[in-house]
Order: sequence, then structure tokens, then C-alpha cells
Amino acid sequence: MVLQRASVEVTWQDCTVSQNPSRVPPECESRLRRTDLLLYLVVRLEAHAPSVGKNALGFSIIPDKSDEAQMAYVCYPRVRALSHSTSFTADELLGLALAHEIGHLLLGTNEHCNRGIMRARWRPRDLEGRHWEEFLFTAEQAKRLQRAVVTRLESQKRRFALEVPKG
Ligand SMILES: [Zn+2]
Repeated sequence: MVLQRASVEVTWQDCTVSQNPSRVPPECESRLRRTDLLLYLVVRLEAHAPSVGKNALGFSIIPDKSDEAQMAYVCYPRVRALSHSTSFTADELLGLALAHEIGHLLLGTNEHCNRGIMRARWRPRDLEGRHWEEFLFTAEQAKRLQRAVVTRLESQKRRFALEVPKG
């Protein structure tokens, strides 16, 4: 919903890690496209991002220079723990945490903002009051997200055109 309000359409694919390779959907085996983002739901965030704060729900890997960011982690036990002290359910908070990390990946920065979903710390009063409108991207961020998606789509098309000879 948060991304939809920013006019960014998301298609989710469950690529749960399985011991049994035949259970892995073929979509999860194919090479990443520029518009694909990998969001790992993990139990121990500190195992993947040792420098991340104790209260952080997630972490995005932002590469240097012009490489596009594609990988982020969200810690479900932390999301669930936070849900106990707020009016949001764990599922709703998980969605908000994922939207926040997708924001980092598409905006290409780990920076935060003092408004909306990209706040470094969500305010207790917004969490308690279920203030959905406080968990949206700003209009300016929404524009940057849309531009980022268009850029990725275009470079993907160019790459595809180079790889698949016509005729
Ligand atoms: Zn953040």
C-alpha cells in the first residue's frame, strides 16, 4: 500500500530457502533483473549486519558508486517484538519495514528523512495511533522512486536487447 501510494507497483515472489531444490520456484533460480530486489527475512539481523543498531528492523546494502542496490534484510523477530508495543500487527509492521528498505534500495542511499516512512525512528505516537499517513513516502521521494524504477526498467531493456540477438 505504501509503495502503491508512491505509484510504484510491486510483484512479490516467495523464494524461501529450501533444503529441497525441487521446491524452489524457477523464478528464484533465474538471474536477477535490474528491477529485482532481494529482501531477506532473517532471525538474527546482527549476523548479517554487525554494525546495525539494536533497534533497527532492517538493513539495506547500498553499493558504492553507480551500482544499483538490490539486497536488504529485515529481522522478523524484531518486527514482532515491536508489534507488541504498538497498535500495528506484526504483518503490518513487516510491510512498513519492507517498504522502508525498498525505499533505501531504490533511492540508493542509507540516508533518512525527518518525515514519513523514511524516518530513522518511527515515532511512538504514530505507531500507537496507527497513523498510516505518517508512514508514506513524501511526494518528492515518490518522484525519485518512480524515476529509479524507470531507469532500472530502461537499462534492463537495453541489456536484454544486447543479450538476445534478433532474427
Ligand atoms: Zn533506514
